[in-house]
Amino acid sequence: MSKLIDIPVKVEVYDTLSEWEVNTGEHGKILPKRMKGRFRTLKNFGMAIWLIYFIGPYLRWNGKQAVLFDIPNQQFHLFGLSLFPQDIWVLSLTLLFFAILLAAATSVAGRVFCGYFCFQTVWTEVFTIIEGKFEGNTPQKRAKFQAAPWTIKKVSNKVAKHSIWLVIAMLTGITFSAWFTDSFQLWADIFSLTAPLPVWIVMGTFTFFTYWFAGFMREQVCFWLCPYARLQGVMYDQETVLPAYDAERGEPRGKLSRQESKNQGACIDCKLCVAVCPTGIDIRKGQQEGCITCGLCIDACDSVMDKIEQPRGLIRYASYKELYKGIPTVPLIKRPRVIVYSLIMLLSVIGVIYGFSTFSPTEFSVIHERKPLFIRMSNGDIQNKYTLKLLNKTDSSLEIRYQISGLEAAFIDGLDKTYIVEPGKIVPVTALVRLPMNQQGKETLHDIRFTATSVNTNDISDSYDAVFITP
Ligand code: SF4
Ligand code: SF4
Repeated sequence: MSKLIDIPVKVEVYDTLSEWEVNTGEHGKILPKRMKGRFRTLKNFGMAIWLIYFIGPYLRWNGKQAVLFDIPNQQFHLFGLSLFPQDIWVLSLTLLFFAILLAAATSVAGRVFCGYFCFQTVWTEVFTIIEGKFEGNTPQKRAKFQAAPWTIKKVSNKVAKHSIWLVIAMLTGITFSAWFTDSFQLWADIFSLTAPLPVWIVMGTFTFFTYWFAGFMREQVCFWLCPYARLQGVMYDQETVLPAYDAERGEPRGKLSRQESKNQGACIDCKLCVAVCPTGIDIRKGQQEGCITCGLCIDACDSVMDKIEQPRGLIRYASYKELYKGIPTVPLIKRPRVIVYSLIMLLSVIGVIYGFSTFSPTEFSVIHERKPLFIRMSNGDIQNKYTLKLLNKTDSSLEIRYQISGLEAAFIDGLDKTYIVEPGKIVPVTALVRLPMNQQGKETLHDIRFTATSVNTNDISDSYDAVFITP
């Protein structure tokens, strides 16, 4: 990280404006104004990604649920692939990728995850849109609605708002459960009131917290409860670009009528940037703890600049270095932190691709009986005992035939028939291998290979190398 000293500093104007404001909810709920703009479009796109959450559990693949976290059977099904606890490293690498992506995004552009994608932001946005429809979509209209006497219309609007909130909250809860169980069966179980108790508990918990957090707590969840909001500060550096007010250009602020004055800055003090902020921040007071870097204040100010025919960017994404010291932001490819994050993400992706490309539909192991390692038969033959275990990781039954190679003179008991292995199951098979006395030679270890081949599918075959032991 670069040093703060040795750099020409132009912070005076910012120092005079800076004011640390923390919105702890004492001024009531925020009802932000909605405006079109580049960052609003980006936010809408981020919100739309959440449709996957609601649609995902209903996707089918080969007649089965395409994505299913089957916790009771310790399996994760993904479009025909079944991952078991031993494959958890692939999921861990996937999670690592997203964790580092989050850190990288924060390091580059602050809390963009919060601003554009976080479920709390998205659900709050949806809930406030609904509230605006029924109770007025500006603070003034809402205040008028609240102050109005309790007429039938007011009561019905309140009931409608809370009913829609509750339906969304319940859908959120049911959908969460649907990722962990058969989604269509879940709906049937809910309507027939036969769903298992854990489903009701999960559903009820999600419904309650969605309704409470998005409907009532809103931005206060970020302030009081979210650990990521607390952590993100340590991921910033002087190169991180954040929505910031260019005070040098904007100050001294003043009404539009006084704009012709030569001492007047570009800010016309319209406060539109404050009106659109979902967390109630006046970005002109400097960076604030509650800022989720959503860029909506940029859209608002750009629209004002367009109207008064001034260049856009009075509020813009800018780094500390650029704004306070007049030094251009270092390109991403020259930032060590970004390079390290990118390398970790690249390695994670390579690992995940390797994991999926070498993914085996079966897991085959052979356990050699240890006590005793071998038995000498009455006729002098030596017998070794093995337990064969084949895990079926496909979503259909496999009919398995076992074979042995490398010990051609041996007699085998237990592998003369095929075995049906159901999806996700292991069928242990005991094999007794006997080597006649005249074939034993002087060596004590003899290589032996067990092969498991599916006879009802063409391309599934797995093998395991073991040893046959003689005295
Ligand atoms: S200050 Fe601007 S970027 Fe920050 S939360 Fe408010 S609108 Fe979003
Ligand atoms: S929207 Fe722009 S012009 Fe209006 S108060 Fe905010 S910074 Fe000033």
